[in-house]
Amino acid sequence: MKAAVYQGNQKLEIKDVPVPSVGPGQILVKVSHSAICGTDVHGFMYDVVPKGQVMGHEYGGTVVEVGKGVKEWKKGDRVAGGGGTPPPGTPSFIITHPRFNFRKQGWNSQPPWAMAYAEYVQMEAWQAIGIPDGVSDVAASMAEPLAAAVHAVRRSGLKIGDPVAVFGAGPLGLFSAQVAKAAGASPVIVIEPAQGRRETAKKVGADVVLDPTKQDIEEELAKLTGGKGPQIVFECAGAKNTLHQAMDAVRFGGRVVLVALSWEPQPVVPVDFITRDVELTTTFAHGTDDWLIGFDLMAKGKVNTDALLAKDGIIPLEKIQDAFMRLTKPTSDIKVVVKL
Ligand SMILES: [Zn+2]
Repeated sequence: MKAAVYQGNQKLEIKDVPVPSVGPGQILVKVSHSAICGTDVHGFMYDVVPKGQVMGHEYGGTVVEVGKGVKEWKKGDRVAGGGGTPPPGTPSFIITHPRFNFRKQGWNSQPPWAMAYAEYVQMEAWQAIGIPDGVSDVAASMAEPLAAAVHAVRRSGLKIGDPVAVFGAGPLGLFSAQVAKAAGASPVIVIEPAQGRRETAKKVGADVVLDPTKQDIEEELAKLTGGKGPQIVFECAGAKNTLHQAMDAVRFGGRVVLVALSWEPQPVVPVDFITRDVELTTTFAHGTDDWLIGFDLMAKGKVNTDALLAKDGIIPLEKIQDAFMRLTKPTSDIKVVVKL
């Protein structure tokens, strides 16, 4: 089968590799679509992905083979990877390492990360989540970042009617905005410098979009929230000043949820906000409930995934190197999806 294999030095090569064999308790999935994740782009950009690794953890496909003892799935079932809950006793680096550090350990955690920039992927049966009828394969390939946004919003303690600001209209920002809105946030304000991404934010239901290159964000956010600032701010940008801006903009007693997985220092100047009893919450990845909630939102049409697709955003595997290179630079593209 064809797979995009990481060669080191920001180079992905399409190689012929064996189709994974399926052991007891495992399934083989024919990958339909596999979305490129910012986490993979970071790993590529900073060259920390192990050589020989096939990345890709945002995907949907069809079960084509079922291992011994698998009762949950049969051939032909549509599944997405990897939101299931491991049975007790399953080795997992994140769960067993009390001081898991994504930068240092994220790329050699085990069991090996999904390998879905490839025609077939092998999964433990428990890892798969069923794709609801009516949710397309392309949409299903975005279920993983949507689940991360659901997790972020659930961790935020959002209450109906809370004004919310979202820094950054990348995939996580756009999904966080939509999930916050579905959870009753009002208004939902998105801050984003790239015009194309601001337009997408409007399309997916942001009440107000702000341009930080032209507007004073703290002033605008205060104006839009009766002088108080938003109750909750989702920091999904990971730019140099956005964590500070988020901490400074949130209202007295409000909460900043750090979603962006920044690999660079983000300076904050505490004197600006320390008097306001601000809470900072971090969030990473998702649990099974977050996946199920995300799929339910998709199935009910409460989350727009189509709008996140970049122009010419569905590419063949052969174009993956170009797409990764493009995504390492600032871009208006949001989601690029590999069709296998
Ligand atoms: Zn991802």
